[in-house]
Amino acid sequence: MLQRPGERLPWEPAAQSNTQPHDEPMPEVQRKSNYFTPNRFYCTETICAPCGVVIAWAKFARAESPTNILEFLASVYPTEESRPAYICIDKACLVMHTSVINGSWETWKKTSRLIVDTYHYITHSIDDYLCKKWCNPAPLDGSAPNLVIVVHDKDGNPYYKCAFNTQACEQLNAWLGGFESMLRKMTQGNFDWFLHAMLFYHTQKVIERQQKSSSQKGSSDGDSDDSDSDDSDSDGSEQEF
Ligand SMILES: [Zn+2]
Repeated sequence: MLQRPGERLPWEPAAQSNTQPHDEPMPEVQRKSNYFTPNRFYCTETICAPCGVVIAWAKFARAESPTNILEFLASVYPTEESRPAYICIDKACLVMHTSVINGSWETWKKTSRLIVDTYHYITHSIDDYLCKKWCNPAPLDGSAPNLVIVVHDKDGNPYYKCAFNTQACEQLNAWLGGFESMLRKMTQGNFDWFLHAMLFYHTQKVIERQQKSSSQKGSSDGDSDDSDSDDSDSDGSEQEF
């Protein structure tokens, strides 16, 4: 049965609401008052391209932490050549902070920038200099021409637009959230198989849709140049089960 995020069946206890700000460290243990439903153990992290193609996923025990995220990124992008120019994470500033402290930033900074997705950026502290200076997904001072582009409306007036969809993983999470009640009750093996199969078929659909729209575009104007299909930006996000 599909269940939308935040929805619960009458016999289920009220869900623990997540009031944790994304730019603050997460408490390691969340205590339960009863054991009638399985506790949250896994936090599933996904990496996807702005077009929606899922690149990788991983399970973290209990909660995501900046260290876990950095290890996951290093395992998916082991070489400098493989690393994307921008990596969009809801808590990018915390991850960058940890990366600077543990020394991994020395290699990451050569190839990549960590930015916060536009949805979560508005909830980050305006006093956080590191966040504002380095993790802004749409700086309007001309410092990141690859992130913000100038386009024209139908009257010819110029306006700024984000060059990439920085919320691809959030959109994926919203879709995955519909399967949460099923996934939470599965054994580890079934969970892994089911999630992997779903993400595989989801990616096939996304690629199919892209091919269809680019062939339609190609036949209508013969120009298949589309900045939205550029995968130089990756988006990481978490979903708890
Ligand atoms: Zn921040």
